[in-house]
Amino acid sequence: MDQQFLHCAVAVSPAVNARVPVLDRIDLITVRLPFVKPFATSVHTWAVKEALLLRLESDGVVGWGECVADPDPFYASETTQTVRHIFKEFLLPLLTPGQTIGELLKRWSPVRGHGMAKAMVENALLDLIARQQNRPLHDLLGLPARRIQSGISLGIQDSIPALLDAVADAMSRPYHRVKLKIMQGKDIEWVRAIREAYPKLMLMADANGDYRLEHAAHLRDLDAFNLTMIEQPLSYSDIVQHAALQQELATPLCLDESIHDLDDARSALALKAARVINIKQGRVGGMIESLRIAALCQQAGIGVWSGGMDETGIGRAFNLQLQTSPGFTLPGDTSETSRYFKEDIVEPGVVLADDGFIALPAGTGIGVTVLEERVARFTLYRESLR
Ligand SMILES: [Mg+2]
Repeated sequence: MDQQFLHCAVAVSPAVNARVPVLDRIDLITVRLPFVKPFATSVHTWAVKEALLLRLESDGVVGWGECVADPDPFYASETTQTVRHIFKEFLLPLLTPGQTIGELLKRWSPVRGHGMAKAMVENALLDLIARQQNRPLHDLLGLPARRIQSGISLGIQDSIPALLDAVADAMSRPYHRVKLKIMQGKDIEWVRAIREAYPKLMLMADANGDYRLEHAAHLRDLDAFNLTMIEQPLSYSDIVQHAALQQELATPLCLDESIHDLDDARSALALKAARVINIKQGRVGGMIESLRIAALCQQAGIGVWSGGMDETGIGRAFNLQLQTSPGFTLPGDTSETSRYFKEDIVEPGVVLADDGFIALPAGTGIGVTVLEERVARFTLYRESLR
């Protein structure tokens, strides 16, 4: 199993051979950034972004990771507090200088789940190592530079006219695709309204698990609207019932919340539960595990894209670096910073080119500069572990 893991991981990225440096400082920092507008899904509404950041310093070079867990368990079971606990008690003690990233991930494997905690640490280490080597992260990962496709995710609105306004506002920028959040009672007619106004728009719907298999006939009505996919219509933990639902629908299903690691992706593909996978690197354990899932999907002809968790500019920058992988075939959730934050904690922010693509930021590591004075201004709590 270990050899198999290493073989598979090396095949997807030479970064597994990079060595963990001596860490002079380790800081966990909780920041709170106000959103420009609240974001609503079928499950919850978030008005501020509260993020747990990991700052690692080695020989004067600083690497950053952002945990995608929320302070609450309404999207995923991990929270910023469980991440803090797992990191301090179980992940940090296994982190030793000189070991390779591959060896570290293997040592972490007895810690079941907690992909968000693992991703935060793996991300910060990879950023640190790439900055130390004076190269961009995608290069450390073995991926060539390329421009990234853009997409926007629209939260649940109060009314269909408000939704049409939100789509019109989004379409004022050249996004490659629009994702609409749906829920019971705000679905068929809402999608129809957008489709009638924008017949050619690349459009998809995300239900965040709001339906049950009994709703199959109702969801089949969405087949009329040429959606690119319907994302996570059934329970956040389900794979088997999605396979049954996919049999009933012409529209491809996409799994998001149900995919925590490569094994979940293998199960989903074996059961034909989805034709598309949304890989959130911050949830599945990090960049290396994401590349393993993307490689599996590419082999199977399954579409892949990079989902967003309303990250600050740090997490957003990791998602951009990941999407240089050719396995990421579909536009993801990466949209312009200005839609989320008036002031972000990095520079430069994400801006679309005239053709809707996003250029990679030019710096080393994740490519952006983290503005430490802004981090300090938005900090709620800072804990120094070394
Ligand atoms: Mg989703």
